[in-house]
Amino acid sequence: MRWKHLNETSMINLAEENYLKTIFNLSGNGKENVSTSAISDFMENKPSSVTDMLKKLSDKSLINYKRYNGAYLTPAGKDEALKVIRKHRLWELFLVKHLAFSWHEVHEIAEQLEHVKSELLIDRLDKFLGYPSSDPHGDPIPGIDGKYRLINNKTLGELAEGERCVLTGVKNSSSEFLKYLNEINISLNTRIRVLKKYAFDGSVLIKINEKHRQTVSREVSKNLLITPI
Ligand SMILES: [Zn+2]
Repeated sequence: MRWKHLNETSMINLAEENYLKTIFNLSGNGKENVSTSAISDFMENKPSSVTDMLKKLSDKSLINYKRYNGAYLTPAGKDEALKVIRKHRLWELFLVKHLAFSWHEVHEIAEQLEHVKSELLIDRLDKFLGYPSSDPHGDPIPGIDGKYRLINNKTLGELAEGERCVLTGVKNSSSEFLKYLNEINISLNTRIRVLKKYAFDGSVLIKINEKHRQTVSREVSKNLLITPI
């Protein structure tokens, strides 16, 4: 069934879509409350304008909002956020697979494409791509029913010395981070072995695809989502 909580007549504009998507991402996929300050920090908007928007979204029954508790997505708000995320990730995959973009180049373009309104276009795109389950950064793509599978739950930093894994996603999909990964030859499905962990600063010596050694910082290791093998 498609987006069962949404009333098709309630039009939602671009700014509202971006807020719902942000709240979804900051709330552990709609599970927790998000404070006004967390939203204003993330979106780099003034707290007063964030509050105004939260009131609007609350009037449309897309969030529950109480002044000191922050915002919590309603089922309808969650559906709307998932719709935007679905479009964003399908477009990212399309750009990488069919228009020869690299994974570090697609996010900004998908930020624009995710607001296209035609559901028919998105459903055809989904079909054209073969109903994919994850985007070029390893993030799950919600299906037409809003369902998605969370695949990544561990980071490289959680592995012990000697353990092996495959890169299945990135926590940080900024182009700066992805460009860095390009430089050290890490991409999705790259095999990584932890050779040594340095207690001094948390950096990790790894072997990439059993070929070359590389030291990565603690920060980098916390942003690599992996599946142990
Ligand atoms: Zn993106």
